[in-house]
Amino acid sequence: MTHILVINSGSSSLKYRLLSVGAWPAPQAAVRLASGTVERIGEPGSPVADHGAALDAVAAELAAVGFGLDSPELTAIGHRVVHGGRDFTEPTLITDEVAERIERLIPLAPLHNPANLAGIEVARRFRPDLPQVAVFDTAFHGTIPAAAATYAIDRETAERHGVRRYGFHGTSHAYVSREAAELADRPGPGGPNVIVLHLGNGASASAVAGGRCVETSMGLTPLEGLVMGTRSGDVDPGVLMHLHREAGMGIEQIDELLNRRSGLLGLCGDNDMRAVERRVAAGDPEAELAHAVYCHRLRKYVGAYYAVLGTVDVIAFTGGIGENSSLVRERTLSGLDGLGIVLDADRNAAGKGLISADDSRVRVAVVPTDEELEIARQTLDVISRTDRG
Ligand code: ADP
Repeated sequence: MTHILVINSGSSSLKYRLLSVGAWPAPQAAVRLASGTVERIGEPGSPVADHGAALDAVAAELAAVGFGLDSPELTAIGHRVVHGGRDFTEPTLITDEVAERIERLIPLAPLHNPANLAGIEVARRFRPDLPQVAVFDTAFHGTIPAAAATYAIDRETAERHGVRRYGFHGTSHAYVSREAAELADRPGPGGPNVIVLHLGNGASASAVAGGRCVETSMGLTPLEGLVMGTRSGDVDPGVLMHLHREAGMGIEQIDELLNRRSGLLGLCGDNDMRAVERRVAAGDPEAELAHAVYCHRLRKYVGAYYAVLGTVDVIAFTGGIGENSSLVRERTLSGLDGLGIVLDADRNAAGKGLISADDSRVRVAVVPTDEELEIARQTLDVISRTDRG
């Protein structure tokens, strides 16, 4: 048996999952042995002073279920890393040089990459003998063609500062698009075309043609695209200049506005979709507008990605909202019979597996995401290749 520890290290929390996986090439047969989250890292009064202490806490939690983090049974550690820039479009075995390159990408993800690196550093110190693999949120989007990845701004400025569309949630889009492709009926010769709608607190859409990502809604940062819990998604960049000139807002204030006080929260005061939908049911006009803006944006992206792909075999909903909100799915895809998209009301209400009508040319499905499993698979894939190569 192969045991893989997956670590998702954030600035104030460290999530982990220990998986037992079937040997390559059948890593699908994965069993979750333990999982948890160490919270409040480095906060005042917290017993967890830093990421080193957080990993000690993980070791203690695993020991409590009978697994030593120092066990020879542990085969590898897989780390989530948010930004791989242009350097990393594949999961990568971590060496000193790789860690340095991830560090050099900090300007592209100032909140995330340092926290991811902190997790990598403590885990490498704890188990220097083990292969450790970085799995990047941006990697799956590395196949997006230049026409979709390029912003129409001055080329030299863009190149000098790494300004392009990178995309995020790639691990989820990779996992869900592959699972969804299995549901395709009669795909074309290049393989199934899938639109993935990942709707959690953050949200992003992607278009995947025959397993390759060709377009995604998040850009240089995770701010672009869909309406999210607290993020605006797309706005006219002119809004930023306007707020600066007319309201005297500085760059930090605008950053805070668009990332933390916008989206569902900004529109109606609630960022939790469950709360928004309770208010919608009660006829609250602010919540109704927030929900309508959310679904309208989503519908617009479905149409755009339909055109990008030419034909669509499967549309997959995932993430807390995608997996649980029948109302969002209904409002996003209703009235699209002309595009061959027909939901089945009962299946949508049940919200498991296929939710399209039997005569819907495009299949629609609810596909629960599993980013940790995907990180474990990719980690195993890298170490198997290394072993064999
Ligand atoms: P994260 O991106 O942090 O992993 P999740 O994928 O868990 O977040 O998604 C969180 C979102 O899912 C929240 O907006 C929450 O309200 C929403 N959600 C969870 N369950 C339901 C439900 N039954 N109906 C509507 N929304 C739900």
